[in-house]
This record gives sequence, C-alpha cells and structure tokens, in this order.
Amino acid sequence: MTTPLHLFNSLTRQVEQFQPVHAHEARVYSCGPTVYNYPHIGNMRAYVFADLLGRTLSWKGYKLTHIINITDVGHLTDDADAGEDKLEKAASASAQSIWDIAQHYTEAYWADVTALNIRQPAEWTIATKFVPQMIEFGQRIADRHCYELEGGLYFDTSTVADYGRLARAKTEDGEGRIEAVEGKRHAADFAIWRKTPPGESRQMEWDSPWGKGAPGWHLECSVMSAALLGLPFDIHTGGIDHREIHHPNEIAQNQAFCGSDHSGAKLWMHNNFLVERSGKMSKSSGEFLRLQLLIDKGYHPLAFRLMCLQAHYRSELEFSWEGLEAALTRLKRMLMGVAQLRSQMEELPADPDGGWTLDEARGHVGGALLPLLAEFDKAISDDLNSPLALTVFEDVLAAKKIEREDKWQMLSAMDAVLGLGVLTLDRADLRLRPKSATITEAEIEAALARRKDARAAKDFATSDALRDELSAQGVEVMDGDALGWEWKLD
Ligand code: AMP
Ligand code: ZN
Repeated sequence: MTTPLHLFNSLTRQVEQFQPVHAHEARVYSCGPTVYNYPHIGNMRAYVFADLLGRTLSWKGYKLTHIINITDVGHLTDDADAGEDKLEKAASASAQSIWDIAQHYTEAYWADVTALNIRQPAEWTIATKFVPQMIEFGQRIADRHCYELEGGLYFDTSTVADYGRLARAKTEDGEGRIEAVEGKRHAADFAIWRKTPPGESRQMEWDSPWGKGAPGWHLECSVMSAALLGLPFDIHTGGIDHREIHHPNEIAQNQAFCGSDHSGAKLWMHNNFLVERSGKMSKSSGEFLRLQLLIDKGYHPLAFRLMCLQAHYRSELEFSWEGLEAALTRLKRMLMGVAQLRSQMEELPADPDGGWTLDEARGHVGGALLPLLAEFDKAISDDLNSPLALTVFEDVLAAKKIEREDKWQMLSAMDAVLGLGVLTLDRADLRLRPKSATITEAEIEAALARRKDARAAKDFATSDALRDELSAQGVEVMDGDALGWEWKLD
C-alpha cells in the first residue's frame, strides 16, 4: 500500500497532496547560504530539511532536480532592503577580496553539507554567474512593475495581485518594514538593481541599463529558479524567516515575469528555526555555533543530523548540549543493533543503483516486514514526519524472527530517506577525539588494559589509581555502560 505524499504549503497554510507539475518529476529550489561567514548549525538545519524532502521525493519515485544557490552578492544587512551588502561589508572588514571570502565560506558550507550526509543537488547555482540573466529579467519587468530612483531600480509591490499573501502581511503598513530609501512608493517596495553611488566603486559591480551596480537579493532566486527549473516548478524551500520578506518578493517578481498571478512554485515550504536558550541563532551577530565546534567537542556530525530529524521540520528546535548527547547515544544504539546484525551475516546485500525507492523496497523485503515498510512510508509521507519514521526504523532493528537479509534490506531502504549512514558507520567513527584532548587512543587503551589486569589480580588500589590518572586527562572510564562503551573523552 502506498500513501500519497502530503506536504504543508505555506501559501495556503494547509497540508496538500503533492501533484507534480511534470509527470513523475519533482523540481525543487532551496534558498542557499549567504557566504560572508561560516554557516551556523541553524542554517544547516535548513539543508537537512531540504535534503530530507529531496530524499523523500526520490523514495516516492520522482525524478528529482534539486537546485541550491550560493548567494555571493546582493543580500543586505537588513532583509527589508536596507544596509550594506553582507559580502562587501565582510570584505571591507578584512584584508581579503570579496571573491576570496565567497570562495572560502562556500567551501566551508560544502564541508558541512558533506559531513551531514546532505546529498549533492543537481546544481549549485552561484548568484554572480547569473547576472546577465538577472539584467534580462529586470528589463522584462521594468516597464510595467518598476520605477527608478537615485539608488536604483525598485519593484512596485502594488502592481501585482495580493502582494504579501505568503507572509499574510498587510501591504501598506509593511509590518515593521522601515522606509529606508527615500522616494519609495510603498514601504514594501524593494530593489531589483542597486546602483553604485556616484564617486564610489564596489568590488562587485556590473553595467546595466540602470547604471553600474549590483542585483537585488530577491531577484537572484527568481532568476535562477526560472532558468534551471522553468516556471512554474514544484517546491521552493527556505527557513521560516524567508516566508516574511524574501519569498513574498520572489513571488511578486515571478508574477510580474509570467504576467499571471502564479507564484512561480506550487508549494512553498519553510523549516522552523533552531534556537538557543538565549534566542534565535544569528550569523550576523557574529557569535554562533558551527558544526565544526560540535565536532571539535567530540560529537559526530550525524548526531546533529539525528537531532534535527528527531523534531518535525515545522517545529522550533532548541539546541542544547544535553540534547546533542542524547542524540549521539541514540545513534550509538542504532549502530550497535546494526553491528550485531552485520556480525551474523556472511555477505551483505548490495543497495540498488541510485538508492532505494519505495517500489524497490517493496520488491526486496520479505512479507513479514511489509507492514513496517508501509508504516515508515506513511510517516514520511505525512509532511515528512521524521520523528515517527525514526521510531519505525528502531522497531525494525528490534524486530525478532525476521530473515537477516530482509532486515538489512529494509534498514538500508529506510536509511535512503533518513540519511544517517548507519549501515556504513562504524562504532569507532562515533568516538571522535575532542580537539582539546592530549591523550591518544592507544594510550587510553593501554591504560585500560593495565587496569583490567590489576582488577583481575584484585589489585584495586592500582585499578583506582589508573582510573584517576585517566580522569585527570579528561577520560571517563565507563564500567558497565549499557551500550558497551568503555570510555569517553569529556
Ligand atoms: P542565510 O545564509 O542567512 O541566507 O541562511 C541560509 C538558510 O538558513 C535560509 O534558508 C535561512 O532561512 C535558514 N536559517 C537561518 N537561521 C536559521 C535557524 N536558526 N534555524 C533554521 N534555519 C535557519
Ligand atoms: Zn532565495
């Protein structure tokens, strides 16, 4: 039995059945990072969500085309069209060129993507490579929808139907928008093209019919999604903050470009925030948690992926070290179950080419597991209910009297959606050394071996002394640990 895929559409604020624009295909665009700084773990939650969506579409048998952009120009320090370009600002604060900054942080982002098992999209589109198309797009909508001010070309939000429908904002009062640019007709109007002020020069600027300058941030996503996916396409994703300004502005541009009321994408999906107890994680504040910090403290990045999957993507998720520790323990438990299963099998079955789909899984796993397969599919088809899907994964792991090969195939199929890599990860992979640790694994193992001998000889004084020595070096000896873990580094 197949459950039709249902997804929450922010446009209608309702869960809807997914109906692709092109039969058997799914075309998805995700707003990518602004590469003026490292991504924080909140940003990475947005891509774990987009990845879960992409994996689910593949699981349901759709041919997926997923695009994620890299914003290397145009994103101002204030989303409501005010302030400086984030990259220009970062470049003037350091001795590096803007291009080097963009390259450095793009690579840092890609490293996090890889560490979190986020699948490569069909294309990473770099905003600065699409400037000619952005100018063409601007020219096409300029006459009917834009006006020029000293600062550049502005979009008149009153020229499209129902502006702000996605945000549920009242257009005229602009819901807290500031009238940052003199001469704007409406507070919500936004820049399509920002002219370089006379007498100044920017590191990133291009000639255009509206003078030398740079494109507006909202323009780039409309242009890249239309260029690579065609309008309309299926799903546009981003963090919940984009529901308020960035995406309503993209929709307005798409409507102007197509000459219709269509918003450009059929579904607009938004992940909720990862927050800290002190509030929302913010890249611009300069202080934030990076994935690398988690790794440096000894947490495997996939424990963070699991932490994200444990919450529904539309719920706010509070980050805490205790929560991350609990996710790591859960991942260890899964790995122990898999290791036990692996040890009982002579040969491991191979995965199908290109990963599992639900149909393939149905053909491979035995009859006894079919109800659990249907349960897993039902959970993930219900607006990506990953918390429930994870419990089905654990039910399969714990299921008794099941052919080992069937169980393995089923776990492998479910992990095609969850992306935790539990069938290939090893116990030792999860024991990361915190960066601050000075003691080596070999030294720990040697001390533990001596302690074992001392205990066998009932020499408890030596045994305790060895334990204290290890403890002084940050090693906690875990006698009788339920997961069979012998030590951990704090
Ligand atoms: P940015 O690099 O600021 O353009 O953001 C990249 C993506 O991360 C966007 O989709 C944002 O909406 C999303 N995002 C930003 N902060 C958070 C957060 N704390 N939790 C979840 N998603 C976030
Ligand atoms: Zn965008």
